[in-house]
Amino acid sequence: MSEVVVSARSVSKSFGNGAGVVKALDDVSVDILQNEFFTMLGPSGCGKTTLLRLIGGFEQATAGEILLEGEALQDLPPYKRPINTVFQSYALFPHLTVRQNITFGLEMKGIDRKKANARADEMLELVQLAQYGDRVPSQLSGGQQQRIALARALAPAPKVLLLDEPLSALDLKLRKEMQVELKRLQTETGITFVFVTHDQEEALAMSDRIAVMQAGHILQIGAPEEIYERPTHRFVADFIGESNFLSGEIFSSADGAWSLRVEGVGEVVLAQESSTGKLGKVTVSIRPERLSLGHESEQGTDRLKGVVANKVYIGTDTAYRIHLGDGQPLLSVRVQNANGVTGHFSEGESVSVCIPSDAARVLVD
Ligand code: ATP
Repeated sequence: MSEVVVSARSVSKSFGNGAGVVKALDDVSVDILQNEFFTMLGPSGCGKTTLLRLIGGFEQATAGEILLEGEALQDLPPYKRPINTVFQSYALFPHLTVRQNITFGLEMKGIDRKKANARADEMLELVQLAQYGDRVPSQLSGGQQQRIALARALAPAPKVLLLDEPLSALDLKLRKEMQVELKRLQTETGITFVFVTHDQEEALAMSDRIAVMQAGHILQIGAPEEIYERPTHRFVADFIGESNFLSGEIFSSADGAWSLRVEGVGEVVLAQESSTGKLGKVTVSIRPERLSLGHESEQGTDRLKGVVANKVYIGTDTAYRIHLGDGQPLLSVRVQNANGVTGHFSEGESVSVCIPSDAARVLVD
């Protein structure tokens, strides 16, 4: 069991006052573990940067507290916290060489020049820019500048590195490369990274755990697979990937199985673990790639009947939209075009949709 490095306990943060007050964070609690790549993911304005800035000490909480290894942090100014930040803008000193950019902060901390230089070279090695120590930042590409900013932030060996959308200024190809690079740096240094992004793919690709945020709240915290496969909230399922939302009623049949009854459509059996133990009216989330289509004649407790409303060939897959019944949203179904087969069903054709019992997740709200 990993140790907790940073904790937020019932943290709220408001800006402004009176009628103009903005509640950026509302009673947020989270434990971030040692040596993990932890990502705060959410749309613009959900409060991710505010939470990061509270951890860094650039803002004070309105209520609640931030702890570092169990100790309250509020009286410690940012520069005294064993926490460093990498900003989107890199914030390198333009007139200093790359090496000096890295040694500057170390010398400010009282480390002598010789040791600081040795540490800077070690860091340049780590970010694979050992040859570039004598250049100034303007002689480096955007990606290289980003690596120097990382080298500088990692040099004092902080316990926690905060990263606020550090890749958003890079083009797509470089961004993908830096994703791999960041993950490598985190693993090699063993430092806890707290990363902020609004990019779902980036979060899924890099993180050990993700906190999905909306309007000042953390809705769900989990490993990427967990967040994607077992979303707890409609917002989470919708924000990460594509999902179908079916409304219906859960009932428990005589043999102990749980089923979802979709008004005017039919019933399907749900796996026990996909339900939250709720009976009655619910909404379930179902990923389109977990569904498959069969001929109308195929029937079973894992099937609903429908009609193909439309079908689009999209290379690796064929995307179907299925009409289940009046008042129900069209169901998205993704079928892989394996071996050149591009789907067997035509628009207007009656089909049966197979919903594996563990594919539907009952949502909290
Ligand atoms: P983005 O991805 O756009 O950076 P975010 O999720 O990081 O968004 P925050 O920057 O934390 O969101 O902002 C959360 C809310 O708090 C927003 O409504 C924002 O306008 C507000 N806010 C943030 N900082 C301040 C401030 N200094 N003064 C007033 N309101 C602020």
